[in-house]
Order: sequence, then C-alpha cells, then structure tokens
Amino acid sequence: MSGFQVNINDLMKKAAVFHGHLCPGIAIGVLAAKYALEQGYEHSLDEEIVAVVETDNCSVDALQILLGTTYGKGNLVHLDYGKSNYSFYNRKTQKGIRLALKKDISNFKNLSRDEKIQKLLELEPEDIFDIREIEFNPPGLALIDESVPCKMCGELTMESRIMNYQGKSICVPCYKELRK
Ligand SMILES: [Zn+2]
Ligand SMILES: [Zn+2]
Repeated sequence: MSGFQVNINDLMKKAAVFHGHLCPGIAIGVLAAKYALEQGYEHSLDEEIVAVVETDNCSVDALQILLGTTYGKGNLVHLDYGKSNYSFYNRKTQKGIRLALKKDISNFKNLSRDEKIQKLLELEPEDIFDIREIEFNPPGLALIDESVPCKMCGELTMESRIMNYQGKSICVPCYKELRK
C-alpha cells in the first residue's frame, strides 16, 4: 500500500472537526498520520494499528480520528514523556515506524498561529520528523476484563485494577485513601 498520496487538507479538515479547533498541534498530528497512512498503516477499525504516543497534546486527536487508534479501543498508548514522538505498529504486516519531532515550530516566532498552521501544512512529514523503522513490538491487545465490586465503596472495578489491602479486594482510590 505504500506510495499512495493522501491529501493533507482533507486530513486537516477531518481532524479539526473532531478536535474542535485548528491549531499547530493538530497540524503536527496530521503530518504524522499522513506519513503512517501513506506507508500502509490504514485506518484501524479494531486494533490492527497501535499508536504509542509520548505526549498528550492536541496532536493525538489527529491520530485518533485519522488512524482509528483510540483511547477506548486500547490501541492508543500514552507514555507521559512530554515529547512529540509517535510510534506506529501494524499487526497485519508486523512492522513498526517511529516519528520523532526534530523541528520545533516555536522557532517560527514571528508567525501568527494561522501562519504556523499554514506553514506546517506546506511541509512534508520528513521535514519535521526523524523517521525510522522500529522492531515490531507493540503493547498487548486490550483485554476484556471482568468487573467486581470494591469491598469498600462498592463500585464495579476491573479485576486487573483491584488492590489487596489486608485481605480485602478494593479499588485504587480506596487503597490510596487507606494508605494516607
Ligand atoms: Zn488544539
Ligand atoms: Zn473502592
């Protein structure tokens, strides 16, 4: 599937509708998504594509809508590193790529917000990202987990998140409360 061209303005429109506004962050996410799509990382209905992102900024919304890597499906993994880096894994082809932001758009100092967005959309992904292939090593598939009531607050809690406190199965907030 590699080699086909994706129209960046179409992607930007779609991403802006989902995200709610136009911003340089969304443009960066659009550039990352455009690269992934052109490399055959097609929009993911289930968990075919996994995105591991090292930021929680606006850019991630572009990936959610354009690549179908979403928080709810579990094929979007956030690492809280504060870096605009994006790794994509394709379960079909068993391949992985990583895009790391190399050009800081805050360098475009004398440009307005709109001009920054416009300037970003005129660039190619390779202009702002260091891009390389990585080993196919995605996080595991999302598990459908049973929920059980917490012995303290009674709220249904996924079994994998249940803590043990003096032999009682309780949820994380109750555990934290008891440990104060
Ligand atoms: Zn934004
Ligand atoms: Zn509880």
